[in-house]
Amino acid sequence: MDCIFCRIAKKEIPSKIVYEDDVAVAFEDVNPQAPTHVLVIPRRHIPTILDLTQEDDALVGQLYRIAGKLARQRGIGDRGFRLVANCNREAGQTVFHLHLHLIGGRPMHWPPG
Ligand code: 5GP
Ligand code: ZN
Repeated sequence: MDCIFCRIAKKEIPSKIVYEDDVAVAFEDVNPQAPTHVLVIPRRHIPTILDLTQEDDALVGQLYRIAGKLARQRGIGDRGFRLVANCNREAGQTVFHLHLHLIGGRPMHWPPG
């Protein structure tokens, strides 16, 4: 299996890693859409939100808390930020390894495009 985010997590492909622990890795998006654009991923290969099981409940909580911690560290906790998880084609998912986009540092619009 040739998954770009698995390879980033294993450091087989270079990226700007900003956080890592036993179960998760966070790194700068290569094509940032805002001053802060970080991707938070599980180390384990999970293709989409639809592949999550009950056993992953704690993992999903960890991903959210990591994103919140990074937002606070970057001074955008109080200002506000957005977490996005695209699932499948119409949402624009292009990498099929679960990830949260942490986006912030500029005003966001709603509804999203
Ligand atoms: P998706 O469209 O699947 O929700 O988001 C995939 C994200 O991964 C995109 O924002 C894209 O810029 C980012 N991305 C794709 N390939 C790489 C890569 O090799 N390195 C990094 N750092 N980001 C990537
Ligand atoms: Zn993967």
